[in-house]
Amino acid sequence: ADHCFDYPQTPALMDWSKYYPEKFKECAESPPTVEFADIGCGYGGLLITLSPMFPNSLMIGMEIRVKVSDYVMDRIAALRTQNPSEYQNIACLRTNAMKYLPNYFRKGQLKKIFFLYPDPHFKKAKHKWRIVNQSLLAEYAYVLSEGGIVYTVTDVKDLHEWMVQHFEEHPLFSRISDEELKLDPIIEKLYSSTEEGQKVSRNNGDKFLAVFRRIKDPLVI
Ligand code: SAM
Repeated sequence: ADHCFDYPQTPALMDWSKYYPEKFKECAESPPTVEFADIGCGYGGLLITLSPMFPNSLMIGMEIRVKVSDYVMDRIAALRTQNPSEYQNIACLRTNAMKYLPNYFRKGQLKKIFFLYPDPHFKKAKHKWRIVNQSLLAEYAYVLSEGGIVYTVTDVKDLHEWMVQHFEEHPLFSRISDEELKLDPIIEKLYSSTEEGQKVSRNNGDKFLAVFRRIKDPLVI
């Protein structure tokens, strides 16, 4: 139940320093901000892969299951101990990302959001629980900077089509072409750096990718 969640009333009240203590020590005068969010991060494989690729970007995994988020926090703590000065830019917090995203991030704060293998919620009556829907897209557009990128991968064709349709219908997102994606080093990591992606690979499942850019609001001059 929601009373279990501890969340900041506003992004300004969020204390990120305890998640990235070394990064905050390094830049005491101009504290860094979280720029990447892995929504429903599961066991944290993507964060661990991206950490050395973007050592100066802070990344947060958001995960609703308490045991899973505890596992990711322990995993990162162990990596930090084994590799001093590395993995200082990644962290995980337990939250319901469908409810509290704007409590954590101010307008335009994020550069990248990841939805890797989100829960499919197959039945029509459960579609409202999908992590991509019309009202949530407005929140994702709000917390993303102009030019910010949303990455989605799923093994469920119906969910892929659902996500593509919702993002394409939304006025603040535009799909990025395959040609352009070839230049993005993150793309190849999306398929099997996460535990769910590895499971799909073992089962020879399909993997559908769709990536979108947060574009300028045409109504704001
Ligand atoms: N992205 C990971 C991967 O690729 O291995 C995990 C994929 S798993 C199928 C979906 C994850 O989303 C689960 O760990 C689930 O607990 C989490 N999740 C579902 N709804 C969520 C929500 N509202 N807020 C945060 N996490 C959520």
